[in-house]
Formats: sequence, structure tokens, C-alpha cells
Amino acid sequence: MIGKRLLNETEEVVRRDMMDAERYRRLLTQTGLKNTKARILVLHILDHASSPMAADEIFLCLKKIEPSANLSTVYRTLETLLKKEIVLKTTLMDDSKSRYEFNRREHKHHLVCICCNHVIPVMGCPIDEYAKSLCSREGFEPAGHRLEIYGVCGRCKKE
Ligand SMILES: [Zn+2]
Ligand SMILES: [Zn+2]
Repeated sequence: MIGKRLLNETEEVVRRDMMDAERYRRLLTQTGLKNTKARILVLHILDHASSPMAADEIFLCLKKIEPSANLSTVYRTLETLLKKEIVLKTTLMDDSKSRYEFNRREHKHHLVCICCNHVIPVMGCPIDEYAKSLCSREGFEPAGHRLEIYGVCGRCKKE
């Protein structure tokens, strides 16, 4: 019954992907954007990426799903998604490339490996209290903050 199990698993993946696509469609509609195949696929790729991706990497992934895709479509799509803050642009240290990540709209900090670019999310906000007291002392109205710690991940350290 291996064939049957494989079929079920494939169906499960397809079903999950369809639910994802529905989520991206809703997200695009909510922000007043038209649903285009390129936008949905780019969101799908970024949403499933384990670390922020450069435009050319996104393009390589996209080409596997959509062979007719071109790099300028990827750039145009990213610009549009950036403007609506559906994706965020980050630059990793020692890397001039702009990288893009799906905006999960949750407050998060990361540990970033400078060897393999692996990004490890940090649970909770370690500087929330500090930021608040610092701002109130300076009479500063905070709009947000970012904190990333750069270093070498456990896996790269072993190599
Ligand atoms: Zn690493
Ligand atoms: Zn924070």
C-alpha cells in the first residue's frame, strides 16, 4: 500500500498549498493589490524560506515552478510587496545583497550566522523594557526597534 500512502501524502501537500495560496490571495486583496500568479508564487517561496532570500535566489526557485518567469518580474513583484510591507527587506552583514523575507507581522529578533546566513528567531523581546525606559527618559516617541545578533552558528563553528 506504499503507492496509496504516497498518493495521500501528495494530496496532503497539494491541499496545504491550496490553503496557502488562499491565504496569500486574501493578504493581497486586503492590502488592495491585484492577485497575480507571480505575487502569489513569490509569497509562497518567501513564506517557506528558512532565511531571507536575495532576488536572484527567489528567481531560481520561481523558475522551477514557472519556467517562463523572468528576473525583472521578480524585482517588480518585490517592489510592490515591499511598498505594502507584505515583505521586508534586510541586508545581512558582510553581504551587500538585499534580501527579502515574508513579513509575519510579529515582533521578532534574530541571530544571524555570518557564515551560512542561517537565521535563528529569538523568542520574545529581550529589550522591550529597556527601550521603553530609554525612550521615556529622552522624551522620545518610539515607533519600533530592530535587533539582530551576528555571529557563527553552532553548525558552522564545528566545521
Ligand atoms: Zn552557520
Ligand atoms: Zn524587540
